[in-house]
Amino acid sequence: MSLKGKAAVVTGSTSGIGLGIAEALAGAGANIMLNGFGDAAAIAKLREEMAARFSVRVSYNGADMSKPDEIRALIAAAEKELGSVDVLVNNAGIQFVAPIESFPDEKWNAIIAINLSAAFHAMKAAIPGMKARNWGRIINIASAHGLVASAQKAAYVAAKHGLVGLTKVAAVELANSGVTVNAICPGWVLTPLVQKQIADRAKEKHTSVEQEEHDLLAEKQPMLRFTTPQQIGALAVFLCSDAASTITGAPLSIDGGWVAQ
Ligand code: NAD
Repeated sequence: MSLKGKAAVVTGSTSGIGLGIAEALAGAGANIMLNGFGDAAAIAKLREEMAARFSVRVSYNGADMSKPDEIRALIAAAEKELGSVDVLVNNAGIQFVAPIESFPDEKWNAIIAINLSAAFHAMKAAIPGMKARNWGRIINIASAHGLVASAQKAAYVAAKHGLVGLTKVAAVELANSGVTVNAICPGWVLTPLVQKQIADRAKEKHTSVEQEEHDLLAEKQPMLRFTTPQQIGALAVFLCSDAASTITGAPLSIDGGWVAQ
């Protein structure tokens, strides 16, 4: 599988799943536009290391994915610096956990903006170039929570279900344009986003992190182990391959059996 000469934008790729996907796409030869928050020196080092390790060009743009103007500027910067946006991975996401009656309005608005609306704005900006080149891959990182619910995650579950719906609409609109649009729906992946939830649970219940890791998995996933960012990266690379050229509009579970129950 070679993505040599192609360019990929991966939102939220300074950490966790996005970083795993960026590394996998770079490993397949794609030039990469990184995005996400973090320490400037650490991000500069990440860029250099990724470029050297995979012999690809690696740019960075710090667009805040809650801001449509900055999202449009991110896509424009990638087109200018890397020549095109052939692969768009909408991955940036945040979480907040509370019952609906006490869910803060600003957390609802932020989660809908970053986990759902950002994908709309990025796709809107990137699709014209993909159509003009008759080739594109859009991969939206949804979740098992794009297919089923959990208590206390109103905004996240609503955003991820919305993202799966948006994926289907885009797939239908782009069906004969050489552009596929799919959603990856992971179960538990041990990243900072989930480590925070585990630490909060351990604090609340006065138990250990190890105990809560086990309990978190046992509550939802028949398979009692975490998926890795590398495994999600490998699935993203597959979706970019010719073998996957008729997979479109699909929510693809990688969740240890979570939604099979
Ligand atoms: P993470 O916290 O490790 O990484 C999130 C990334 O998004 C970081 O790079 C962060 O800087 C970036 N980000 C956050 N807000 C941003 C903003 N406003 N603008 C730009 N970048 C921003 O989280 P993760 O677990 O790797 O999650 C990545 C995606 O995978 C999310 O969409 C999440 O919902 C989804 N997901 C995660 C899991 C899991 O178990 N970890 C499961 C299913 C789906």
